[in-house]
Amino acid sequence: MSAPWSPISWKDKPIAQNVEYPDQGHLSKVLSKLEALPPLVTPSEIERLRHQLGRVQRNEAFLLHAGDCAESFEACTGENISSKIGLILSFSLVLIWGARLPVVRIGRIAGQYAKPRSSSYEKLGDGRQVLSFRGDNVNGLDPNDRTPDPERLLSAYFNSTTTLNYLRSLLTSGFASLHHPRHWSLSHVRSPALRREFETIVDGLSDALDFSRTIGVDAGGANAYECGGGRGTLGEVDFYTSHEGLMLDYETALTCEMDVPSARKAFYNTGAHFLWIGDRTRQLTGAHVEYFRGIRNPIGVKVGPSMEEGELVRLLDVVNPDKGTGRVTLITRYGASKIDDHLPAHIRVVQKSGHPVAWICDPMHGNTQTSANTGLKTRHFNNIISELTASLRIHTECGSRLGGVSLEFTGELNEEGYSVTECLGGSMELSEEELGLRYQSFCDPRLNFEQSLDIAFLMSNHFKK
Ligand code: PEP
Ligand code: MN
Repeated sequence: MSAPWSPISWKDKPIAQNVEYPDQGHLSKVLSKLEALPPLVTPSEIERLRHQLGRVQRNEAFLLHAGDCAESFEACTGENISSKIGLILSFSLVLIWGARLPVVRIGRIAGQYAKPRSSSYEKLGDGRQVLSFRGDNVNGLDPNDRTPDPERLLSAYFNSTTTLNYLRSLLTSGFASLHHPRHWSLSHVRSPALRREFETIVDGLSDALDFSRTIGVDAGGANAYECGGGRGTLGEVDFYTSHEGLMLDYETALTCEMDVPSARKAFYNTGAHFLWIGDRTRQLTGAHVEYFRGIRNPIGVKVGPSMEEGELVRLLDVVNPDKGTGRVTLITRYGASKIDDHLPAHIRVVQKSGHPVAWICDPMHGNTQTSANTGLKTRHFNNIISELTASLRIHTECGSRLGGVSLEFTGELNEEGYSVTECLGGSMELSEEELGLRYQSFCDPRLNFEQSLDIAFLMSNHFKK
C-alpha cells in the first residue's frame, strides 16, 4: 500500500534543485493568484495524448519530442513560435513519409522555462560569486538579477498562455495543413541536396492528397483519439505541449481535481499535456517523484548513466503502480560512448517487470562538450547520430523498439534570415570557426533547421527498411 497522496504531499520530502525565495509572503500571494487562473490545457486533451502514447508503446505510432532547451520571455514572438512549429511539422512529415507511421508531436514549448543546474552558484569573470541562472521563471540571465522573484512565475504563466494561444491559432488556421507544407519555410536551407529531398516528399504528398480528394477520400480519423487527423480533416494536426516539472510550487498551483472523460475524478496538471522528471530530480524518495506519482498526465522520466537497474523498476512501480498504458515514456540520455554500457540492461529489466513504456532516445544531453577554440557549449552532430543509431540497434537486438526521439532544435533565424550555429557538423558541415557566428541559445546548444532535417531523413530511411 502506498502512502496517501495530495498535490502538496511532496512538501514533506527532500526537494532537489530547490529555489529559496527571500519573501515567502510574496510567493504565497503569487501562488494563490496562479491557482485562480484558468487551465492552459484540458483533461480531454491530456487523455487523448495518453491514448496516443499507448499507440507509441504498441509500435503503432512514433513520438517526436522537440524544442528549445529553455524558452525565454524575450523570445516569445510570433516569428519564433511559427518557425518552431514549422520545423516540428517538417520533421514529422519526413518521418511519416518514410516510416508510414503516424507521429505524435510534443513540443518543449509553452512553459519550458525552468532549468536544473549542476551548481547553485556561478563564479563570474570579475571574481564575484552569484546565484546561478535558473531559468526565466526564477531569476534573470543578467548576473545583477539573480535573486529569485515570484512575479516571474506569473510571467511564465502568461508567456505560456500567449504562446499556446498563437500555437492553437496556427494549428487551426491552415498553417499546419499538410496541403501547404511549403509554408513551413525552407528558404534558409543551404544544402541543395537536402532541399531537393524535402521537396520530393512534398511533391509526393501533394500528389497523394490530390488523388485522395479525386476519389473522395480524406484522411480524417473516425476516432477522436487517433493521431493526425483526429478532427476529421488533414487541415489540422494534433500538437501537445510539455516542460520539465521542476518548480513544484508552480506545478501544484496548476494542479486541479477534475472529471476524467468517462471515469472517476483525477488530479491533472493543467499547465501542460506532458511533463517530465529530469535526470537530476528523479530520486525515488524525493519531492519530484512524489508529485509526479499523483497526477494523471502522461509523464516522461529521463534515464541517464547513473540510473541503476533496480532503481528504474522501483521508479516505474511508484509512478505507475497499475501498469497503465500511455502513462510512462522513458527518455534515455547516456552519451554516445556510454549507451552500450547501460541501455541493454535497462531494456531487459523493464521487459522483465512487465511495465508498459515508450522508449525515446534523447541523443543531446549525454553529448554536450565545450568547444576548445571558443569555450562555447556545443554538441557534435556525429555524436548525436552515433547515440541515435546505437539506440535503434540496441532496441532491435533486445527485441524492443525505439518509439521516438527527444531533440533540442530550433527553426529560429537571425535578422538576416540565417539559422543558428550552435551544434557542429551535419550536412552543412558547421565548423568550430562558425560556432560563434549565430550562437543564440542561452542554455544548451540546439540543432538548426538543416541539421534537424538531416536527422529526420536518417530516421525516416531507417524505418523504411
Ligand atoms: C533537458 O532536457 O534540458 C535536461 C536538462 O535534461 P536532463 O535532465 O536529461 O539532463
Ligand atoms: Mn537541455
